[in-house]
Amino acid sequence: MMAAITAADQGAEVWIYELKDRLGKKILATGNGKCNFTNMFQDDSCYRGTNPSFSKSVREQFTVENTLEFFRKIGIEPKVKNGYVYPNSEQAASVADALSMELRAKHVKVVQEQVYSVKGQDGDFLVKSEHGQNEFDKVILCCGSPAGMKNPKEFAGYSLAESFGHQITDLIPALVQLRCKEKWFKTISGVRCEGIIRVLENGKEIAKEKGELLFAEYGLSGIPVFQVSRFAGEALNRGSKVTCKVDLLPGYTKEELEARLVQRFESLRGRTAEELLVGLHNHKVNYVLLKELGIDPVEDSKKSYGTSDFIRLASLYKELTCQVTELNPFANAQVCAGGVDTSEIDDRTLESKLIKGLYFAGEFVDVDGTCGGYNLQWAWSSGYVAGFHAAK
Ligand SMILES: Cc1cc2nc3c(=O)[nH]c(=O)nc-3n(C[C@H](O)[C@H](O)[C@H](O)COP(=O)(O)OP(=O)(O)OC[C@H]3O[C@@H](n4cnc5c(N)ncnc54)[C@H](O)[C@@H]3O)c2cc1C
Repeated sequence: MMAAITAADQGAEVWIYELKDRLGKKILATGNGKCNFTNMFQDDSCYRGTNPSFSKSVREQFTVENTLEFFRKIGIEPKVKNGYVYPNSEQAASVADALSMELRAKHVKVVQEQVYSVKGQDGDFLVKSEHGQNEFDKVILCCGSPAGMKNPKEFAGYSLAESFGHQITDLIPALVQLRCKEKWFKTISGVRCEGIIRVLENGKEIAKEKGELLFAEYGLSGIPVFQVSRFAGEALNRGSKVTCKVDLLPGYTKEELEARLVQRFESLRGRTAEELLVGLHNHKVNYVLLKELGIDPVEDSKKSYGTSDFIRLASLYKELTCQVTELNPFANAQVCAGGVDTSEIDDRTLESKLIKGLYFAGEFVDVDGTCGGYNLQWAWSSGYVAGFHAAK
C-alpha cells in the first residue's frame, strides 16, 4: 500500500493485486488491535537479517520522521507511549482504512485476485492472476510472509521470486513463543513476572532480554521471549542444544537473595517451606522451585530442610533452567526471519540485481525487526523506496 501510494505520487499508474477481501488485513491484528506502527527509538540493532546492515540505506531514505509526517498527512494522529507509536484512535483499522482512502484518492486500481505468476523483464512484465493477465513496466513483489497465517503452508509468495531465480534464505518463525521440555510449566502456566531471559547455545550465551515474562503450559512467552526467539530458532536449526536461564528476581544479586532467604529461614521458623516463601514470588513459582529442590512444600521448617537448601533455592530463582525443544509454529509468530536473499537486491533502490524492473519490499525480504513497531517501520520504509524507484 505504501509502495503504491508512493509510486502514484510520482505519477505512475499503479495496480495492486491482493488475494484477500480487504487490503492491509494483517495490520488489523497488529499491536493487539491497536497497531504499533513505528517507534521513536531507532537503532541498527532493531533490524535483523542474514545481512543485518542491508536495511540501513532504505531506512535512511524514509525515516520515522517521514513516517509520522506521512501518516499525519493521511489523517493518522500519533500517540506515543514509551517511544511506541500508535494511532491516536488506538484502532489498527484506522491505519488500514487511512491507507485505503489514500489509495482511492490516488486512483490506484485494486484487483482482488491472487497472482499466480509473474514473467518477463523491465518494461515488459506479464502478471497472471486468477481471472486474467496484464502487462506492466515494473513489478514490486511484497507478498508478506507465512507468519500469523492460520494455514502457513498455503503461503505461496516465495515461488514468485524463485521463478526469477531469486534465492530464499532459511525461514524461521520470529517474535514467537518457545516450547520447553520441563513438565513444571503446566503448574506455573499463566504466571507473569518481570525477569531476565538468557538463551544459551550449547552452553554459550547468544541472546539476553529483560521484561515481562509469561509462563505458558508449553513453555515461555512474553515480549522478551519474542525478542530472543529468532536466535533460539537459528541455534535449533544448527542442531545445537538450546537452553534458557531465567532470572526470576532480577532486583536482587545472588548474594543478596541468599542472605534474604537465610534471614527468612531464621526469622520465620515454624512455617512450612511454602509459607516461608509467601510474598517473595508468585506462590505457584515458589511451589515449583521447592519441588525442583526436592523439598516438601508443606513440611515444617525444622524437619526437612536447612540453610543450605535456601542457598540452593537462591540459585534457582536467579537461574531457572529449561530446555527449548522448538519454537511455536508460523501461525503463532508475528514475523518471519528470512525471505528473499538480500545479496541479490540493490540496497539503495530495492531493485532486483538479477531482473531489471523487478523490486521487493516488506517482510517478503530477508529483513525482520524486533518487537515494538520495527516490522511495520520496515514495511513503510521499504514500500516507499521500492515505490519511488520503480516509478522513477
Ligand atoms: C499478530 C501480529 C501482530 C503484529 N504486530 C505488529 C506491531 O504491533 N508492530 C509491527 O511493527 N509489526 C507487527 N506485526 C508484523 C507486521 O504486521 C508485518 O511485518 C507487516 O504487516 C508486513 O507488511 P507486508 O506488507 O510486508 O506484508 P503483509 O502485511 O503480509 O501484506 C502482504 C499482502 O500480500 C498478499 N499476497 C501475498 N501473496 C499474494 C499473491 N500471490 N497474490 C495477491 N496477493 C498476495 C497477502 O494476502 C497480504 O495481504 C505483527 C504481525 C502479526 C502476525
